[in-house]
Amino acid sequence: MLGVAKNAEQKAIKDAFRNLALKYHPDRNKEPGAEERFKEIAEAYAVLSDPKKRAEYDARGFAAVEEFSQEDLFGGINFDDIFGGLNLDFGGGPFEGFFHRRRKGPARGANIEVELSIPLERVASGGEEKVRLRRPSSCPACHGTGGEGGAAPKACDACKGTGRITRSSRKEKEHILIQQISICPTCHGHGNIIEHPCPKCRGSGEVEQEEDLTVKIPKGVEEGMALRIPGKGMPSPEAGGITGDLFVVVRTKRDPRFERDGANLLRRETIPLTDAVLGATLQVPTLEGSVSVTIPPGTQPGAILRLKEKGLPEFGGGRHGEMYLRIEVQIPEQLSREERELYERLRALSGKPHKTSAGHWWQGT
Ligand SMILES: [Zn+2]
Ligand SMILES: [Zn+2]
Repeated sequence: MLGVAKNAEQKAIKDAFRNLALKYHPDRNKEPGAEERFKEIAEAYAVLSDPKKRAEYDARGFAAVEEFSQEDLFGGINFDDIFGGLNLDFGGGPFEGFFHRRRKGPARGANIEVELSIPLERVASGGEEKVRLRRPSSCPACHGTGGEGGAAPKACDACKGTGRITRSSRKEKEHILIQQISICPTCHGHGNIIEHPCPKCRGSGEVEQEEDLTVKIPKGVEEGMALRIPGKGMPSPEAGGITGDLFVVVRTKRDPRFERDGANLLRRETIPLTDAVLGATLQVPTLEGSVSVTIPPGTQPGAILRLKEKGLPEFGGGRHGEMYLRIEVQIPEQLSREERELYERLRALSGKPHKTSAGHWWQGT
């Protein structure tokens, strides 16, 4: 089911679930079928992680799973423990959202997505970032009804709440009934009328609001990860409805020192030819200050040196990424007379001038 051995350790099961769930969670994967796949994965996890359910499944197969209620199946799982800080939407109750159970009542507000660029240091440490958000929100004075003091709108008399006016006439001779449907001019098609509009929102039920939000950045947050902040999206189009969610998509700020590659950091260092030949010590910046790096004698252009665990912490795991230094060698283009003489002597020392026999030089013979 989850692609792990039948009697795998609980830890391995949890890790496998985590990885798959992050891959298929509808907040992060908009491909068709992802939600269904996520549901299967969640069910599989619920069974595998509980020895009692596991035993029933082993004995009776999928029939046993179908008999569990949602509460039975997912009630015992601590999602915070598995997805620490990510705030993925697991529906109102346990997984409610994934089983297409329509909530009753007014429609939910739309979700909003904003991008947040954070420096590598913040990725490494995790912690809080501030986001200033301007968005329409439900008017606090009228609670979104648009009526003064929160009065509910009245159904329009002119159209009896339909928002449309229908005029019928009959051409007796031709036996044609003519129906003319138009938008109600009294309520402008809304079907209801606000008699005393709320002075704060002028009857719209919404006000523009600026809010400073604190976003919790999990340590090692991955590029493009969406952090959910419940209830900070668009207000419901209807009074009393649930506000949508805000998704903060995390981007890594460009850094002149390093390039990010998952949890690893990449950096290019250019050293003089003499250092490549003779070896040297370099001062290399890391996220925790600079470190001394030994360049061994005879280092080749394009050589990669690994600085152990000088990358970023891996999201959710205890592991730490590396820093990779790619060594470029600066070949001198201009030589002083003295340098030229020394290079000439070096060449003489190392034997004959290079063979340049036509044809096969690239084969290294
Ligand atoms: Zn009307
Ligand atoms: Zn209002």
